[in-house]
Amino acid sequence: MQRDAIDQPNSNRIVLRRDAKPLSTRLWSRVDMSEGSNGCWLWQGSVNINGYGQIRLEPVGNAIRGAKSTTHRVAWVLKHGPIPDGMNVCHRCDNPRCVNPAHLWLGTHAENLADMKSKGRAARGDRSGTAKLNSKKVLIIKRLLFLGHCNAVELSELLGVSATTIDSIRNQKSWRHIDARL
Ligand SMILES: [Zn+2]
Repeated sequence: MQRDAIDQPNSNRIVLRRDAKPLSTRLWSRVDMSEGSNGCWLWQGSVNINGYGQIRLEPVGNAIRGAKSTTHRVAWVLKHGPIPDGMNVCHRCDNPRCVNPAHLWLGTHAENLADMKSKGRAARGDRSGTAKLNSKKVLIIKRLLFLGHCNAVELSELLGVSATTIDSIRNQKSWRHIDARL
């Protein structure tokens, strides 16, 4: 007989929990913070259908399945306390897996929708897989191409992207929504 069972006569009735660590430990131990304090901290666990990280509020037991919440809401609560009724935790970075509290803000549902709408255009290029470029860089590329001091090959060297990428910016095949105001 195991020692625990001698010390605790009822131990055979105790439901063993696979993971009894506190919520904060279970959240932060599965977050990639390699981008540093200003970068996105990406949840490495499971995500829901909308791409938001999800986590059980209670430890997972053998019999009890705890309620789930989204990881960015949990991150907000751990940092700031309870979320007021009717408020949404929104992402500045538009990255649903991000749980960096610095990238989260509290807004009404209407504010959240307005914010997503206003970002809709910029998000298209920034999130389309061309990770080395962003709206600001593309703006500079467009200005440099317009001035004619650099060609596509030189810019591609400088930015570590292919000359084809620079060409497609010049030809308005990508990043068309970036208005260089030339
Ligand atoms: Zn972020």
